[in-house]
Amino acid sequence: MRVDPAKCVGCGNCVPVCTMGVIRVEAGRAVVNEEECVECGTCKRFLRVEGFPAPLVRAVRAVLHTLHLAHEAPPDVCPAGALFQPELEWPRSVRKAFSDPTTKHASTGIGGRGTEEIKTNDVTGRLRNGDAGLIVEMGRPGLGARLAELDRVARAMAELGARFESKNPVTQMMPDPATGALNPEVLNEKVMSAIIEMKVPVAGLPEFLGRLNEVAAGLTSVCSVAVAGRCDPDGSIPYEEIVVKETGFPLSLTSKTNLGLGRPRFGESGVFPTPPDAMPKAPQAGSAAAIGGDAE
Ligand code: SF4
Ligand code: SF4
Repeated sequence: MRVDPAKCVGCGNCVPVCTMGVIRVEAGRAVVNEEECVECGTCKRFLRVEGFPAPLVRAVRAVLHTLHLAHEAPPDVCPAGALFQPELEWPRSVRKAFSDPTTKHASTGIGGRGTEEIKTNDVTGRLRNGDAGLIVEMGRPGLGARLAELDRVARAMAELGARFESKNPVTQMMPDPATGALNPEVLNEKVMSAIIEMKVPVAGLPEFLGRLNEVAAGLTSVCSVAVAGRCDPDGSIPYEEIVVKETGFPLSLTSKTNLGLGRPRFGESGVFPTPPDAMPKAPQAGSAAAIGGDAE
């Protein structure tokens, strides 16, 4: 994002709106720290434009100031429309793709962080019995994350044999997903947040989570870790013992559970996607597909 100094009147309304705190007013004009801006577009979307000519607004403000009066613009306006989004070229365009919720990822067609995660596991069958989904969300508003830090985490997980979810925009930036390494061109880009998604064996969770702890200790950004998997037919969580007792990661009360109400597009033992004539007509009561789902 940039500010047109010819239109900016220095009202400062954009400063508190910025999700990353990277706008400041200097010498009567707003300035965006472009190195730290994640191109989320919030400042421009939030502030409406009154359409007054900037010289007129400045003149009125100057006269009122001389008279020890003040006229502050309403807090939701950028009076002359000084904020503008320049054309973003690769690799900077990556920032907007991950940070602007109104933009869809070209690689997955999904907005936001660009992945359904395992919320649609009932239908997609990304995770089968014995699989654990490991989700590492990096970055937050006000902090963000450099893709170099995602690269470090993904490489460490790849060394242990993690399989990265292909329908995920972070995976799409890996020339060879077996290594976890991201395209070197994007490493200096900063995003508000991004999600690394992997599939690992349930029995391997202690090793993966332990390594994550080690890598996270050297990061400047933050990581939120989620584990997902299909429930056993009796409704129990197959990795609960491992996660809580062997790794010390507590299970969160804010987990999510899918109830298995979606029509599966996969066969339990077949190749994905299952041909239409082999698709089950409906989930069978009591089957893993009907009861299962994901919980994180
Ligand atoms: S809201 Fe607009 S006019 Fe006010 S400081 Fe920001 S860019 Fe300048
Ligand atoms: S695009 Fe987002 S990060 Fe950049 S200046 Fe605007 S609000 Fe701040």
